[in-house]
Amino acid sequence: MELDDPPDFDIWCALNGTPMAAAAWIAAAQSIAVLDVYKAIRNWLEDGDHIPVFTSRGWSDLPHLKRELPAFVDKASAMISESSFHPLRCRSHCEQHALWYVSENCPICKGFYIDKVVYSETGRTAYLNSSPAAAPAGESWLKPEVWLSEGKTAGDSPSFLVKQ
Ligand SMILES: [Zn+2]
Repeated sequence: MELDDPPDFDIWCALNGTPMAAAAWIAAAQSIAVLDVYKAIRNWLEDGDHIPVFTSRGWSDLPHLKRELPAFVDKASAMISESSFHPLRCRSHCEQHALWYVSENCPICKGFYIDKVVYSETGRTAYLNSSPAAAPAGESWLKPEVWLSEGKTAGDSPSFLVKQ
């Protein structure tokens, strides 16, 4: 049985500051080059007002991140999407979870998603949610556990989204 990976999530916001201010902040937060982020932001802004401010996060991380949105964004404009997808390019929206998604069903309603992502000096670790209600029986890896642990090396590509 082929299963989709559990999604993680992005927070997108409209800018109310300059693209360079946004690029400087995101580059510092992710330890990547300002110019790379700036170019990505300019590309996103060709499609609308929103850029991804926090990327590849867990569902339970989002409330705390929404309180930490930087000054260069319009906080009221925040939209949540499945990672790597512009909210306005997602096919569906769950009213209950205020989530834009591309899967067949809302991943939160379905109960199969990344709940927490921990970034550390050594890398990124993603954890599944603790009650994957819709998970097929007998799949041992569908228990709450580390879903993915990735090390960080000097040559890692930026996690800031590149326009698709
Ligand atoms: Zn939902």
